[in-house]
Amino acid sequence: SAVIKILITGLIFTISSTHASESTESRVEALLAKMTLTEKIGQMNQYNGFWDVTGPAPSEGDAKNKHDHIRTGLVGSVLNVSGVEDVRALQKLAVEGSRLGIPLLFGLDVIHGHRTVFPIPLAEAASWDLDAIELSARLSAVEASARGINWTFAPMVDISRDARWGRVMEGAGEDTYLAQKVAVARVRGFQGDDLSRADTIAATAKHFAGYGFAEAGRDYNTVDLGTPTLYNVVLPPFKASVDAGVATIMNAFNILNGVPATGDTFLQRDILKGQWGFQGFVISDWGSGKEMVLHGFANDLEHAAQLAVTAGSDMDMESYMYIKHLETLVASGKVNETLIDDAVRRILKVKFDLGLFDDPYRYADSVRESTLINHPKHHAAALDVAKKSMVLLKNENQLLPLSKTKGKLAIIGDLADDKNSPLGSWRIGSIDNTAVSLTEAVARYRQDIPFEQGVKLSVGEESFLQEIVVNETDRSGIAEAVALAKQVDTVVMMLGEHGFQSGEGRSRTDLGLPGLQQELLEAVHAANPNIVLLLSTGRPLALPWAAEHIPAILVTWQLGTQSGNAIAEVLFGDHNPAGKLPVSFPYNVGQMPLYYNRMNTGRPANVDGNVFWSHYIDSPSDALFPFGFGLSYTRFELSNLRIDASDKSAVRVSVDVANTGKRAGEEVVQLYLHDRVASIARPVKELKGFRKVAIEPGANQTVEFILNDETLGFFNQHGEWLVEAGEFGVMVGTSSRQGLRGEFSL
Ligand code: BGC
Repeated sequence: SAVIKILITGLIFTISSTHASESTESRVEALLAKMTLTEKIGQMNQYNGFWDVTGPAPSEGDAKNKHDHIRTGLVGSVLNVSGVEDVRALQKLAVEGSRLGIPLLFGLDVIHGHRTVFPIPLAEAASWDLDAIELSARLSAVEASARGINWTFAPMVDISRDARWGRVMEGAGEDTYLAQKVAVARVRGFQGDDLSRADTIAATAKHFAGYGFAEAGRDYNTVDLGTPTLYNVVLPPFKASVDAGVATIMNAFNILNGVPATGDTFLQRDILKGQWGFQGFVISDWGSGKEMVLHGFANDLEHAAQLAVTAGSDMDMESYMYIKHLETLVASGKVNETLIDDAVRRILKVKFDLGLFDDPYRYADSVRESTLINHPKHHAAALDVAKKSMVLLKNENQLLPLSKTKGKLAIIGDLADDKNSPLGSWRIGSIDNTAVSLTEAVARYRQDIPFEQGVKLSVGEESFLQEIVVNETDRSGIAEAVALAKQVDTVVMMLGEHGFQSGEGRSRTDLGLPGLQQELLEAVHAANPNIVLLLSTGRPLALPWAAEHIPAILVTWQLGTQSGNAIAEVLFGDHNPAGKLPVSFPYNVGQMPLYYNRMNTGRPANVDGNVFWSHYIDSPSDALFPFGFGLSYTRFELSNLRIDASDKSAVRVSVDVANTGKRAGEEVVQLYLHDRVASIARPVKELKGFRKVAIEPGANQTVEFILNDETLGFFNQHGEWLVEAGEFGVMVGTSSRQGLRGEFSL
């Protein structure tokens, strides 16, 4: 059996050594020396570009003519402009029209694909397949860069423990270790090895910091975080991104411990640019500068500009605060020009690194646009990662996979016939209705599968900027669905959230099936309990009734362009599911926030895991389906846990993994650590290593993990990094709930 060695790389908060090369540095300095103060401030200004490139800019009030501003060197970057012609036209204004000809950065939210849409980031994280995730980002960059984009506002590396928050869909879930690995894969994917290549783009780790901890899951809400949670849970994915060379960091809308992130000197100057030695630049979030006024932190826009630039926020997205006020602030001595020089150096460095000064038009290339957009290889990769992203939660009596020939099947549910929802939220740059729906895809397997919508999920317009209006009243299709269910052996039901029910500003207080879908599910179940439930969702849902009554449940998230094809392959057994939940699925919304790596209370747990009085009197405390959980069509058994702690700086943990079922499959072997007694209380368990292994039926493999200081240590309440002697518990398993347990001492 093969031995797989995994070096677990954890956190080392050291000064980064990514200094600009001499030649870039001197080019930056030479250019900076030529710039007027006004031109420098211009570089720190980003405009939204939803306007006709050839016509005048709309009177935004704040910017009478954005084109003139570009020509006069008052704009460093635009966002939301893509397409070869538009990008070239604007770039021409900057390069040929402005005095110094400094090229523009073109930023866009390339979050999970561009024209080829990949699964939503949360779904991809469920694959635990870092190569597939990296490739997804890589190909997204290939497509976006061909259409002129040289900078993406991704990856979002916020940890989210609260399924009410709509942006759960955009991150890697609740766990810091997994999120670090995914963040690095995505940064590498977007940026490649060489940022100056025309098909790699600058990445942004966002939102710095704590945005995912909005109180009560309500977007933009206050965040209060103690030092251990900030340092051990929230910051590490940002640190990992910085170490991976991420070009930019986006700050955030939220207040963190009383200070709006955009005006937070501690975060941006002390930690990011100080301790971590970050060399790139910080972009504000959309209008987050001016939001500091509403937060009650800045008197007015001028004050906001002063606070933001002082705190280290280098470029302003959509507050117009730098362009309007920085010059006055410098003249009055409230802002020292050295702060502006520092910001501009950082911005210019990224422009040089991207190769924009060598060829400003390299990112808008009609040949690449016509040959690479929607390239079959991109679709193949999108299909591959979509298959890997699905999580099988339940499969009683091996209802799945379905036969390709035998048994009568029916499909029920609005989402099964939807070509738009599977593209998910945050698919800027894509074209609506371009996903392969489930009904289209199953037709390639079997022509004989009838479909009923049952209930419509929503009424009215479905768009990214518009909130979905859920159908709460029209039950007219339920009877047909029930009638159909009675005629068949197995019913495939695709239910869940519309793609636009998660994402920014899409917080929910109900984690059940929206609208009348639960009613439909129960009605169909009464007619025919042989149901395969496909859960299309951008966040964890709370479905205790389904978990009890429905024999087979597969989480299909929102899987992008290839959605239907991927699901059909799993349904009919051409792909054996191996995804694992990157977030806990709760019993109910009242459990929020819910996460596996919680702290112990002072109350002892009994054998059932129930904690004396620290419980709900009306609900279990733990997840319905825990973090790291996911089934396969085959079975895996772990045995023979060995721990060798003779070398304290490299504790070896190994386990044998056997495929005891009848099919080839993949398992994600997960290592969890528990520091039993430490100078601050530590979580009951924390993921510190994982490995995805493919094993043939009847075969087995040995998986080895190595724990070192980076994985054994933690930050205390003063932000100090400690590795302490003592006893550690180890669990190696196939979810955060179950596994072989052992211990060792340091
Ligand atoms: C979001 C950012 C995004 C920006 C630009 C904001 O509302 O919070 O994540 O990058 O808009 O679209």
